[in-house]
Amino acid sequence: MDRKPENVTVVDHPLVQHKLGLMRRKETTTAEFRQLLREIALLLGYEVTRDLPLSHVEIETPVAKTMAPRIEGKKLVFVSILRAGNGLLEGLLDLVPSARVGHIGLYRDPSTLVAVEYYFKVLQDLSARQVIVVDPMLATGNSAVAAISRLKEEGGRDIKFVCLLAAPEGIATLCAAHPDLKIFTAAIDERLNDHGYIVPGLGDAGDRLYGTK
Ligand code: URA
Repeated sequence: MDRKPENVTVVDHPLVQHKLGLMRRKETTTAEFRQLLREIALLLGYEVTRDLPLSHVEIETPVAKTMAPRIEGKKLVFVSILRAGNGLLEGLLDLVPSARVGHIGLYRDPSTLVAVEYYFKVLQDLSARQVIVVDPMLATGNSAVAAISRLKEEGGRDIKFVCLLAAPEGIATLCAAHPDLKIFTAAIDERLNDHGYIVPGLGDAGDRLYGTK
């Protein structure tokens, strides 16, 4: 398989790679993991928002009037796939505090690995918004496919997906289901294991983020 289709951007900035290396270590504490994810989210956010449209407004500096660029933050919607998505969400909101936020709750059926929706709360009409969906781990891709299909049902047209780690299998599934989607990740790992975990990965992102194991 082509490990990196055209619509996938690997953010290989040294700061991202250094922080990701720290996150992978099993000795990394919950507090450190959470802080690192927030910092990486800022750096990924810088890349994923690169093409945001700017308008210009007149401002006055202490010296003169000028036109200053401005992002329309309310046009941006961050959608977190619960619960690990919230770890990335924090950093993105540091960057764009006025962005709107949605949440999608999906759990993986442990035997089939199919995504089952248990919560959905997102702005009603997404057609005029840029939607950035966040989930640290793109593993089988089933949750991401389900979340993006659901957002398209709500009118979403301009959708990006941001994760920390991606498995080649997850990328293939997501790209096949949503070829129009742009995916941003800090790394593409080797493969999935029999339990649907990314190898070498970093374990269960939700457990590591919230200290639930
Ligand atoms: N979800 C996780 O938290 N970790 C994985 O490796 C795969 C899915």
